[in-house]
Amino acid sequence: MKVFKFGGASVSSVDRIKNVGEIIRQNSDASLMIIISAMGKTTNALEKVVDSFFAGKKEEALSLFQAVKQNHLTTAKYLLITSYNQTLEELVNFFTEVEWLLHDKPVQDYDYYYDQVVCVGELLSTCIVSAYLNESGITNQWLDVRDILRTDDNFRDAGICWDVTVENLAKSPISSSSGIFITQGFIGSTDENESTTLGREGSDYSAAIFANLLNAQSLTIWKDVEGVMSADPKEFPAATFIDALSYNEVIEMAFYGAQVIHPKTIKPLQNKKIPLLVKCFTNPSAAGTIISLKNAKGLPPIVVVKQFQVLLHLHTHDFSFVGEKPMSRFYEILSEVKIKPNLIQTGAVSLQVCFDDKAEKIDKIAVAAGDFFEVQLEKGLTLLTIRHYTKELLEEMCLGKDVVFRQQSKETVQVLYHA
Ligand code: ASP
Ligand code: MG
Repeated sequence: MKVFKFGGASVSSVDRIKNVGEIIRQNSDASLMIIISAMGKTTNALEKVVDSFFAGKKEEALSLFQAVKQNHLTTAKYLLITSYNQTLEELVNFFTEVEWLLHDKPVQDYDYYYDQVVCVGELLSTCIVSAYLNESGITNQWLDVRDILRTDDNFRDAGICWDVTVENLAKSPISSSSGIFITQGFIGSTDENESTTLGREGSDYSAAIFANLLNAQSLTIWKDVEGVMSADPKEFPAATFIDALSYNEVIEMAFYGAQVIHPKTIKPLQNKKIPLLVKCFTNPSAAGTIISLKNAKGLPPIVVVKQFQVLLHLHTHDFSFVGEKPMSRFYEILSEVKIKPNLIQTGAVSLQVCFDDKAEKIDKIAVAAGDFFEVQLEKGLTLLTIRHYTKELLEEMCLGKDVVFRQQSKETVQVLYHA
């Protein structure tokens, strides 16, 4: 069994869906578990629907959702002939569920509604793609992943309940038959049948979970790039292609904010030594990047730039040392607010902590930390990380920058500067 994951860009148009069909046809000698994301920018569009709904703008929410519907109906119409009517019925069932919800008044948390609405993106895309493949002679079975992937009710960042997921998988057709299965990434469900999501870009993680549980031979993530690059080529034209990386290197890259793959993806693969291939859906015969246990030698400097950073300056009230009490309380606050610091610098009587500028969370931290620290905020910062840096590159990249501070180890350097 191999696991494939196709991201939103690979199914963003009729032609691209046909291209996905070709890739699957060429690989259909093995049993395949195929995870597909929502089409194109559907998840962003659905987020706007939730925002309007939660702001009490019901008509706006419904009309934004109408546009999402229309997109999918148009795609289905262009792709499907014999199974159009049957698929239409299925799509309409998903539409109706969302519309019912939008007609209500919000009484629960934002995150709860987010998951109930946003999950429909992957349900619609997989439904259309599965029908198209069946019509094209690529026989496959569509599965509602919410019948398999059980999560807790930590909406928008749900945790996997592994035991129940394993049991569900054993009862599902994947365990008793071979062939091609199509299902959704990014979504799951609670034991009360509420839909959940695993965090933006979470389909990679879903694919890794299935690769792990199915003891897959490999996981292939099909993207719109040739593989993993040493930097974002849109920002750094000198970025180079990397043909092999170790799991550990990718974990480090993801930790520092590289948008390669979802940070949680590696662990389930690493635990079972399942190789991860990152390949290009517009050039499927190219080798792509292979990520495995093997330590790659001679890696180029890997550059990650994170914009929209905020620095919290925390100072003890009375110039007492920053002891373990305020420190541990501070970490408690971070875990309550559910945010990860990107960089921490400690001094005798002060602490500086850098975060992604998520205003709502930062305000909460500032207020809570105010109990035992003077708090100041510095916004508009950029965090540069270079793994395997060279002195020359570091100097070049810091040239003319208003640097706030820098942290350096043998492998990695991080520089925080004013954007
Ligand atoms: N559709 C979701 C997103 O755009 C999940 C994914 O594509 O991985 O974030
Ligand atoms: Mg995606």
